Amino acid sequence: MTTTAPTSAPGTARTFDSLDPRTSTPIASYPVHTQAQVEATVAVARRGARYWESIGPATRRATLLAWRSVLSRRADELAAVISAETGKPLDDARLEVALVVDHVHWAARNAERVLARRSRRPGLLMANHSVTVAYLPLGVVAVIGPWNYPAFTPMGSIVYALAASNAVVFKPSELSPGVGRWLVDSFATVCASPDDAPVLALVTGFGDTGAALCAAGVDKVAFTGSTATAKRVMAGCAQTLTPVLLECGGKDAMIVDADADLAAAADAAVWGGMANSGQTCIGMERVYVVEEVADRLVELIVARARALRPGPGPEVSYGPMTLPAQLGVVESHVAAALEAGGRAALGGTESVHATYVDPVVLLDVPEGNLAVTEETFGPVLVVNRVSDIDEAVARANGSRYGLGASVFGTARAAEVASRLRVGMVAVNSVLSFAAIAEVPFGGVGDSGFGRIHGADGLREFSRTHSVITQRWRPPLKLMSFRRRPRSARTLLTLIRVLRGRR
Ligand code: NDP
Repeated sequence: MTTTAPTSAPGTARTFDSLDPRTSTPIASYPVHTQAQVEATVAVARRGARYWESIGPATRRATLLAWRSVLSRRADELAAVISAETGKPLDDARLEVALVVDHVHWAARNAERVLARRSRRPGLLMANHSVTVAYLPLGVVAVIGPWNYPAFTPMGSIVYALAASNAVVFKPSELSPGVGRWLVDSFATVCASPDDAPVLALVTGFGDTGAALCAAGVDKVAFTGSTATAKRVMAGCAQTLTPVLLECGGKDAMIVDADADLAAAADAAVWGGMANSGQTCIGMERVYVVEEVADRLVELIVARARALRPGPGPEVSYGPMTLPAQLGVVESHVAAALEAGGRAALGGTESVHATYVDPVVLLDVPEGNLAVTEETFGPVLVVNRVSDIDEAVARANGSRYGLGASVFGTARAAEVASRLRVGMVAVNSVLSFAAIAEVPFGGVGDSGFGRIHGADGLREFSRTHSVITQRWRPPLKLMSFRRRPRSARTLLTLIRVLRGRR
């Protein structure tokens, strides 16, 4: 079954290679799809959307559960593609696939329950009506994904959009087209849609192909990537009032209180900040620790970070920087922090090598510094001490981003978590919210808006549809030019009696 864009459309000759970032060796070639090809793909996906809706919820559920089984059985194969295109260790890629499988399982099993038409109460004034609300498919959803978690991140949109009965056209990052191809081809093995009506289709190329997809008449764009690109996507979608879901960058903070388990906090800070070379949207980039326990926490963090071994082999702690240009960003943030008076407890600008970055721990960096305000996206932790927990909350909230956060502590941890201006907070753990299918995932501010995962994620890819039916004629006829002169005053008297009490 053909699930990639047709290659016979005009002006199609360009291709690009995906590379293994550990060796810069080409892995495979992919077409750079033109605007005409992208439009043709969206047109056939629209037929796919009609097919997918026509088969009904039970068959959709069975198809998605069959895909889940394929993903589970062939997990090593998908993990190998992820590892080759990102350079991350195979076990990290396996973890990514395990999370994907769990999300497919949850979305498949819960879509009908969450989205089905249900009765709502009409209220006293409209008691003669019945009300039902359903969540219906949008049609064709465009999913544009990044490279850092090239399966987990886009699947947070793809799976929930499919479960909500939409067709999807997926544009993976130019760094990870092979993962996109693998996902789309594996879905085609379980979905019996006709050849000219793919339910999940692929377009490949650079930013222009993504922009063409946004302009191709899709019914929603689910974008995951940097805040700068998100603004371009939103501006493009504004021309056609195409709705957007934006999952963007972050500068997540961890707060460590005096009664925290410091060993656990240090372990979580190092893993949350440095796993995947720090190339994690919800990665820990800032740690705010109260004065009393700051020295001890820094000692533990440095000891754990010092033991990490980046590299290309299977037993390494993390792999290379997948996007070579990010090396310059990481180096500039470390340099800026040190120039502004920050201290290096581990590493420094010399930690940034041609492909790999050794762990860096910076202390007491001024809050206005690049290393504190901008997404570094590398294995760099800024640890700043604060005089009390209120200062920790104020500093954590003093970011234009607001994606996730973590709090380590006992007595006040839940209260501190509730005061953080972010989408998700993990208490006494890190990143855990991404692994629970029912937890809505997304941020505020420059981290974007909208939610993937869970019931919110299913509704994000639906249009709310209400039907209000009059069951009997009302004693007071209000919504008519033929109403009696006293009807409105009688209604107001009724309202005062019923709703006017304190
Ligand atoms: P980019 O913003 O560079 O790219 C994201 C996607 O958008 C890619 O597929 C890219 O294509 C495409 N694109 C580029 N230009 C346009 C355009 N004008 N119109 C439409 N699409 C376009 O992000 P990265 O791929 O570098 O990913 C890293 C970023 O993603 C980080 O900021 C990270 O925090 C964020 N992220 C956020 C997550 C979240 O859930 N909040 C999860 C994971 C990552 P191409 O690659 O071909 O240029």
